[in-house]
Amino acid sequence: MQDTTVAPASRMLLGGDFVDSASGETIAVRNPANRGIFAHVPRAGAEDVDRAVKAAAGGFETWRGVPPRERGRMLLRIADAVEAKTEALARTIATETGNALRTQARPEAALTADIFRYFGGLASEIKGETLPLGEHVLSYTRREPIGVVGAIIPWNAPVLLAALKIAPALCTGNTIVLKAAEDAPLGVLMLAAICEEHLPPAVLNVLTGYGEDCGAALSAHPGVRKLSFTGSTEVGKLIMEEAARRVVPVSLELGGKSPSIVFPDANEDWVVDGIIAAMRFTRQSQSCTAGSRLFLHSSIFDEFLEKLVARTSDLKLGDPLDESTDMGAIINEKQFRKVCGYVEEGLDRSDARLVMGGLPPESGPLSEGFFARPTIFADASNDWRLAREEIFGPVLVAIRWDDVDDAIRMANDSHYGLAAFVWSRDIGQALRTAHRVEAGWVQVNQGMGQVIGQSYGGVKQSGIGREFSLEGMLDSFTQKKSVTVNLGIPAP
Ligand code: ADP
Repeated sequence: MQDTTVAPASRMLLGGDFVDSASGETIAVRNPANRGIFAHVPRAGAEDVDRAVKAAAGGFETWRGVPPRERGRMLLRIADAVEAKTEALARTIATETGNALRTQARPEAALTADIFRYFGGLASEIKGETLPLGEHVLSYTRREPIGVVGAIIPWNAPVLLAALKIAPALCTGNTIVLKAAEDAPLGVLMLAAICEEHLPPAVLNVLTGYGEDCGAALSAHPGVRKLSFTGSTEVGKLIMEEAARRVVPVSLELGGKSPSIVFPDANEDWVVDGIIAAMRFTRQSQSCTAGSRLFLHSSIFDEFLEKLVARTSDLKLGDPLDESTDMGAIINEKQFRKVCGYVEEGLDRSDARLVMGGLPPESGPLSEGFFARPTIFADASNDWRLAREEIFGPVLVAIRWDDVDDAIRMANDSHYGLAAFVWSRDIGQALRTAHRVEAGWVQVNQGMGQVIGQSYGGVKQSGIGREFSLEGMLDSFTQKKSVTVNLGIPAP
């Protein structure tokens, strides 16, 4: 039976203990669906970071020596423990992020268990190579852990993203200090409490704090040997500067403004549903992979949009915890205002055509939370700010195209390159397009979310490195050592 209690754990995990911040200061956590404060978590600063990194460095000495399969078994036990708590985790995620329980938070919690299971199973795959250098030489490589990983995550899929840092880092023998996002720390603390029951102390350390003090101190700490960041391109650049200062490896999974290219032969209902999924409307489009630039062939432009508006209008916006809700609330006031600002800008443009949505409701129950309506502007230009900047909200721009070269040129005319979507029944045409689009992940005729085991990450300013797969884990969380042995030494 599922344990549905919401964990009381709202303390940080540091060196095997659940603690408050050294300063005693806290951060208020708000429920985006009603704007009310519902919890407090510690506000970690530089002193807490220092203690956590030192604890993790101490933990590393023994953790690196634990046989990989034993480490893997611990991750598998965590997977089972997470599975037993998915409902409680899901409710916590829905309450703190505003993401709908049925469409988002529950699948996120379930996927978290799968992530631990996947990486737990990979522990015996941390293999090296032997090199054929001749009869008198034995040369081989070892995949060794790097040391203390400093990981920083955002709020949009907090528990899943925490798992995607913790599981591969620990599987490969590193220890970790993970900073949760200030807007969504509770699910991550709950996950930390579950993990801690199955790990030696100090292997996993989880801090809650703001970016400018806790995040910055973590990325600058000399004891951190690898930085792994998921978040905005702007902050990603700061993390990379810190990495450069100390010459430590860094993985960055950053923003996106992903194109969806629809060919004339794809004017069908399943494609409309795919566009809604790709746009992540049911996560308020707070996803870096959101297909937020819709390139529609002009021969189907109006008819396709009509169907898209009809189907998107069926999405029910409301209380994230209500089972009938498809789409919840935007994370916080700052982000909500930012999204409204983009909608206002679209409404002010004389050349923009609003085909659905608009500014949020100002009265009624939805006005109590940060609820933004799905909004679509038609006849957009790829030059608009709405088409160039990552809105991280449910605002879609539809752009006409006639010539495929033109569509691809516009799709690539962005400093981002995370994801892309191509829709056509002509597979040759779809794949030729997929190969020409500058993106780390192109989906053809589907709009789903990240899949575990598949290398995922961006090109251009959407990031560097891949973490979600076996090869991603090996590249991101291990360092190669070559050992060369002379087998031809003279007899004594
Ligand atoms: P988002 O727009 O998703 O909030 P951010 O990049 O601002 O993306 O935040 C992602 C994570 O980075 C959060 O955990 C945040 O606290 C952290 N962060 C923000 N600023 C900094 C910084 N200067 N140094 C390190 N981490 C930071």
